Amino acid sequence: MSLLVVGSVAFDAIESPYGKVDRIIGGAATYFAVAASFFTHVNLVGIVGQDFTQKDESIFHRRKIDTAGLERAAGKSFFWAGKYSQHLNERETLVTDLNVFANFNPRLPEKFRNSKHVFLANIAPDLQRGVLKQVKGKPKHVALDTMNYWIERTPGELRETLRHVDILMINDFETRQLSNEHNLLRASRRIFKMGPSTLVVKRGEYGAMLVDKQGVFCVPAFPLEEPHDPTGAGDSFAGGFMGYLASCGQSNDAALRRAMVFGSVLGSFAVEEFGPERLRKLKLAEIHARARHFLKLTQFKL
Ligand code: AMP
Repeated sequence: MSLLVVGSVAFDAIESPYGKVDRIIGGAATYFAVAASFFTHVNLVGIVGQDFTQKDESIFHRRKIDTAGLERAAGKSFFWAGKYSQHLNERETLVTDLNVFANFNPRLPEKFRNSKHVFLANIAPDLQRGVLKQVKGKPKHVALDTMNYWIERTPGELRETLRHVDILMINDFETRQLSNEHNLLRASRRIFKMGPSTLVVKRGEYGAMLVDKQGVFCVPAFPLEEPHDPTGAGDSFAGGFMGYLASCGQSNDAALRRAMVFGSVLGSFAVEEFGPERLRKLKLAEIHARARHFLKLTQFKL
């Protein structure tokens, strides 16, 4: 089952207590696509500039990701720079140069229009809705990510888009901001009234929480001694989650729980090295070994 992702493909500059890179491939759609590609066929829609070479694009081709929807425009690719605090729990954005991303108007190649699984990464909510209008029929799962910028600046557009979304995947801060409610369970009830029937709250080093009408399921973050760079961890989580759901063809409670674990597994690998370098080298066997490790982490007897 193929999975469509629409979002940013970028160059990032990243600084953390573990080192610094001046220019590395990044973007939400990049992390998502690479993470999801371990489970299912991924169709990518995004935009890059002339500075994005065939060698840069090879990150997708090596994972057999279809880049027919990766538009090339005159100008530079989206550039983002960020710096992490000593304990990696705070991030300062230093630069956001939208460049060609400023004129992004996603167009789905004909062969992508039958997608049954769709992930709308963090872009303007009206563009996210525009993508859904191009998808034929009713997809099985539409998931969406967003950020404080859109929650604050285009709340009406975001509300309109959320009406067409099944799974909302945002962090705890965004959950509180969107719902105007501090408690995450009460927040989920408000969010369900906006359209989504499932809420996945990404909580960084505290793991992630899924809330739907069946109840609540929590997964920890994998304990790592030396995480290097949290950039893209949330997008990699979303890639593991959606990739698994698309591959298993089910959406019952057991499948959603496994999707949460695979999300956390992919997120944990993403932070082990700068940029998407660890994901580039990752093997499917390592993913399954870490998923088994999650069983040990969370099992107990009463
Ligand atoms: P995350 O760590 O999940 O926030 O994702 C980081 C990735 O998002 C980086 O690789 C950036 O290139 C990309 N990014 C940063 N700001 C934006 C933005 N405003 N819109 C879309 N993508 C962004």
